[in-house]
Amino acid sequence: MKKTGVFYHDICGKEAYSSLAMGVEEGFQSIKKEGLFSRPNITWFESEPATEEQIARLHSQQWIDQVKQTKWWQVSLYSVGGMIGATEKVLKGDIDNALVIAGVGGHHAHRDNAWGGCYFNVIGLGIPHARAKSLGKRFAIVDTDTHHADGVRDLYQDDEDMLHICFCDSFSWVYGSDDRMESNTKFCFPHGSSDEEEIANVAREVPPRIMEFKPELLFWLCGMDTHQDSYGTAALTEKAYPKMAKIIKQVADEVCGGKLIVKTCCNTRPHATRYIVPRIVDCLSESGIYTD
Ligand SMILES: [Zn+2]
Ligand SMILES: [Zn+2]
Repeated sequence: MKKTGVFYHDICGKEAYSSLAMGVEEGFQSIKKEGLFSRPNITWFESEPATEEQIARLHSQQWIDQVKQTKWWQVSLYSVGGMIGATEKVLKGDIDNALVIAGVGGHHAHRDNAWGGCYFNVIGLGIPHARAKSLGKRFAIVDTDTHHADGVRDLYQDDEDMLHICFCDSFSWVYGSDDRMESNTKFCFPHGSSDEEEIANVAREVPPRIMEFKPELLFWLCGMDTHQDSYGTAALTEKAYPKMAKIIKQVADEVCGGKLIVKTCCNTRPHATRYIVPRIVDCLSESGIYTD
């Protein structure tokens, strides 16, 4: 079994960007209700707010000041803080892996602007923190959200120590395919139109690239807007997500001693996050609670 941390603060549920992060509260509460926190190897760490200094590692002061004027400031701070706490604990070996539940998106956040329910680059802000604390240098982010991670791609385009595998074809929204900025460490691949196809795409494209790149920690942005009751590809049932978790966890186990952080803002309906979120925690912690 593995030691798994769940990073969440009530503000991420109560003040979520709710048209996007519609299943956050239910996702977290379902871990509790299913009794997973009574297991000795699964711990809830209440996310702390990130500091402006931590956020300024990727964002301009002007943008930080702008977000401060919005109602999304607090939930953004606690969402980023969860990612920073998880990154530090996993890299120090206090826990093996983690799930970060955020109340906002993040991968559409650039240095000076953002869109689509994103303010600061939640998934991207663990990396400069780890580097500042000399906890690691080389990282990979796998992004299976419906949409192209234009913010992550923009912030890390020249960083050869960051492998970015993004599933997004035909779902770039405002950013056209010319803005994908692909290179030998930055890739985009198509989504599947069914559970089977999506899982096959992830199984084909992710493990070999992670094995070759050898990151010290793997981040997985588990977007749930690919779910059939959400607003993205609407291609997947809830059963697909624990299966993707298994593939991604296995490669992290093989390549980087199991160091894996899953970030989600639970962007599908509560009935689905109630199914998905505890099963991801079960998979990460190797507890073997669910058989379906
Ligand atoms: Zn999306
Ligand atoms: Zn992409």
